[in-house]
Order: sequence, then structure tokens, then C-alpha cells
Amino acid sequence: MAPVQAGSHGFDYDLVVIGGGSGGLAAAKEAVSLGKKVAVLDFVDPSPRGTTWGLGGTCVNVGCIPKKLFHQAALLGESLHDAGCFGWNIPERKSISLDWAKLRESVQNHIKSVNWVLRVELRDKKVEYINARGSLIDTHTVHAKLKNGSERELKTEHVLLAMGGRPIYPDIPGAVENCITSDDIFSLPEAPGKTLVIGAGYIGLECAGFLNEFGMDATVMVRSTVLRGFDQQMAGLISEEMKSRGVKFLHKTVPVRMDKQADGKIKVTWKSLENNSESSDLFDTVLMATGRRPLTLEVKADQVGVKLHPESKKVVSEKELTNIPNIFAVGDILEGKPELTPVAIQAGKLLAQRLYNNGKIEMDYDNVATTVFTPLEYGCCGLSEEEAIRRHGDDNIEVYHAFYKPTEFFVPQRSPARCYMKVVCLRAAPQKVLGMHYTGPQGGEVIQGYAAAIKMGLTMEVLMDTVGIHPTVSEEFTRLWITKRSGIDPTPQSCCS
Ligand SMILES: Cc1cc2nc3c(=O)[nH]c(=O)nc-3n(C[C@H](O)[C@H](O)[C@H](O)COP(=O)(O)OP(=O)(O)OC[C@H]3O[C@@H](n4cnc5c(N)ncnc54)[C@H](O)[C@@H]3O)c2cc1C
Repeated sequence: MAPVQAGSHGFDYDLVVIGGGSGGLAAAKEAVSLGKKVAVLDFVDPSPRGTTWGLGGTCVNVGCIPKKLFHQAALLGESLHDAGCFGWNIPERKSISLDWAKLRESVQNHIKSVNWVLRVELRDKKVEYINARGSLIDTHTVHAKLKNGSERELKTEHVLLAMGGRPIYPDIPGAVENCITSDDIFSLPEAPGKTLVIGAGYIGLECAGFLNEFGMDATVMVRSTVLRGFDQQMAGLISEEMKSRGVKFLHKTVPVRMDKQADGKIKVTWKSLENNSESSDLFDTVLMATGRRPLTLEVKADQVGVKLHPESKKVVSEKELTNIPNIFAVGDILEGKPELTPVAIQAGKLLAQRLYNNGKIEMDYDNVATTVFTPLEYGCCGLSEEEAIRRHGDDNIEVYHAFYKPTEFFVPQRSPARCYMKVVCLRAAPQKVLGMHYTGPQGGEVIQGYAAAIKMGLTMEVLMDTVGIHPTVSEEFTRLWITKRSGIDPTPQSCCS
């Protein structure tokens, strides 16, 4: 087949994408499907531990996918216990243990197969994949430094920045040398053992959650807020649930230094933010989960004039367009947008449609559903209760809520104490739904469909008029009738709630 020609603009390419992750690949594939000549540059700097990976970006290699597989391994451990109660002949729980090396190998094999499929897909679709570190020379020229040291200059009409981010290490002695991050955990050769997770965002909680389920000692260090940005009542339920399962929390503390001991353990010294007192303990592994930084300075975006947020260094954009007319950006590097894979993908596809197919649809960053994959999952869509009150005022908000008992918890007598849901809506009829929150089994599966309903303007009246599927956990949303304002106890009275 003849090579694809770039348009009549005089550049070698129609589009050069820096970053072959969720957003970059989606945009590149969409653009070639519209007949454009596209190159994607992807390059992974090894983590300080030396971990590196293939094409596909964070989600595929060190994010959503390995995380969900480790979460699944944790859920299976719990299900094994349940299975005994349902009549399966299962050995004593104490004698069941996780083979870390096997888990790691299975997950890494899957990732390698995805890396391969992605490369083949790019080749078949005629996206030019260049395994090179990209940076901007000027607004139409991308410099590519290939793995073998050779260099290229790519002249292009449009540039798409899609470099994603990498974990942050705090500036304290011993942090970089002694800590791992989510970049390393899923490919660690040895089981991490007694682990301190620093940071209580969703990544920190998810990692502590699965490690604890695997039988490892897990502690979460929290500077201020668990699951900042999420509904705080739900965050409280998740951290209480984790505590009840054995995860320890060090609240209002920050790490001060990390010292490697002769036996390989790491002595972590931390400080209380309440009284400044110092404490310390020994850990086999310290996992830093204190946030991620965008890779914008590395590509010299600022040097060609792309406007970055002064603090976060993320790209300030309007409809994925930067302040430079031919430079666009998608994904985790965008200021003020959710850092989620489907968000990056959707934004990338829609952008390509608008650029090359006269598309009119803009990315809607509101009401994006998400799930925290802690052992008891937390799925949500829309506003937190705090944010709804902030925007509309307490008097104008109604919150319907209930605790419920999942059927699958009855026989194994699992505690349903934190299986809870709430719908935050406007108080005036027909009570437009602003946010839905759920803790329990299958959080993501439960919330996804409701996200479409919220996008279509779901009201509490419609939800109450919806017939549930019995017996499911999701049907409980259709049975909500107790408002917080009423003060009625939302705990179910009967076994079938
Ligand atoms: C542990 C963890 C769990 C997560 N779980 C979920 C989840 O459950 N659900 C969800 O929706 N999201 C999840 N995320 C977030 C999700 O992974 C990101 O939102 C998504 O990957 C962002 O896509 P992106 O295209 O912006 O960047 P990335 O996917 O990060 O891709 C960027 C690519 O660009 C490359 N690159 C960077 N600089 C250059 C350069 N100069 N030249 C060439 N290439 C470069 C990078 O190496 C990378 O391959 C998780 C993230 C983490 C870390």
C-alpha cells in the first residue's frame, strides 16, 4: 500500500503526537482513520528503581489494568473464604496464601501481550510509531531522540501533547533511594512484605487495600484528608472499612526521612502535624503515593510558549487547544480535568474528529463516573454532597440514603456495615440528580449505567419510578426513600432490607 501523504500544508505530517498512552493513541488512531498522516512518539524513562515498560502509557502498564488485576486477586482471596461457606471444600484459610511471583508473572505477561497488540494495531492502521523521547523545537517541529541515540526532526501541521504524568517523590532524605511507587509495585520481583503507603489518595488506598488482603502488613500515612476531592462521608466509610480489615492509618503525619538498615529494611521517621512529635518504624517496603506531576517541562512546552499553570505545570487549555493555535493537549497533563483513562481517550477521539472531520462534539468533563477499587469498592458520579451544598446551598439539596445488605454477604456472614449509597439531588421537584455514591461490591459496574442516566438529566422521581432487578445491589438505588433531612435511621430493618 502506498504511504499516506500529509495534507497540502507543506509539513511532513498532519499530526505528531508526543505520548503513546490512552489519550495520544486514541487521537492518533482516529486521525489516521480520517486519512491523516500521523506519527506517535512514545518513550518511558525508567523509574528510580529501574522499572520500565512498553507502549500504551500508564493505564496499560502501571495503572488501571495491573491495578484492577491485583484488586481481582484480592477479591478472589476473599471469595475463597466465602466459597467454603457455600459448600466448596476449601482448605483452612490460614493455609491459603498468595504466590506473589505467580501473580506478578501472570499480570506482566498480560501487559506484554497488550504492548504487542498495540504495536501491531498501530502498524496495521498506518500510524508511524517512533520509540523516541519527543520535545518541541518550535511550534511546528518535534525533536525525536531515539533509543539508539539517533535524532530526528519531524515537521508537522499539528502537535498533540499527551505525555501523562509520573509519581512525585517528596523532597526528604532517603525518599528516592528507598521508596517505590505505583510505577514499580506491579512488577516487584519479591512480595513487598510489611509496607508503608505514603498518601491516602485513591492509588494509595487501592495499593494498601490489596496488599492487606494478600496478608501483608499495610499502613497508610495520611497528611490531611483521605480521598481528597471525593465525597468525605464516603471516604470515611472506605477508610473505616479498611481499618476493620486490618489496614493501619497514621493520621495527620508526614514522613521526615527514610534510612536503609543493614538488613535491607527501611526505617521511616515521621512527624505528627498535631504536636510535632517524631516516631519511627521499620518497613520492608515504602510506597510513595503522594501525587503525580505532568511531563510538560520535559518536552519544553513552556519554551515554545505553551501556557502552563504556574503551580501544577499542567497545560491550560480550552477545548483541548493550548494558547498556541496548532498545539493541542489531552489526558492527565490538562489542568483541572479528571485524570482518568476514558477521559483521555474520549477527549483524544473527539479532538481528532473536530480537527479532521468537521466534528462538532466537545468533550464533556462533567459527571464522569469513577471507582476507587479498594476491597469494598466506591463508585461515584457527579457532585459530592459537600460540593452540591457549596454550589446550591444546604436548603436546596436533598440527600436520599440507605445502608443495605448485599445478598452475597448473607451466607458467609460478611459485614455489610459499610455498604451504603446516597443520591444527592436538588430539593425542588422533580429533584434533579446531582451525584450518586455507592460503596459495596462491583462499584464500577453499579455506577456506570447511572452515569448515562445522570447525563440525560436523571431525576429522583424517575429513579423511584424505576423497577429494580432483584436481587442485585444496584436495585437498592431504585428503593431509596429516606432523606437525611428526615432523620430516619437508614439502616435496613429486615434481612432483605
Ligand atoms: C496506579 C494507577 C491506577 C490508575 N487506575 C485508574 C483506573 O482505575 N481508571 C482510570 O480511568 N484511570 C486510572 N489511572 C489513571 C490513568 O492511568 C491515566 O489517567 C491515563 O493513563 C492518562 O492517559 P494519558 O494519555 O494522559 O497519559 P499516559 O497514559 O500516562 O501516557 C503518556 C505516555 O507518554 C509517554 N511520554 C511521556 N513523555 C514523553 C516524551 N517526552 N516523549 C515520548 N513519550 C513520552 C509516557 O511514557 C507514556 O507512555 C490510574 C493511574 C495510576 C498511576
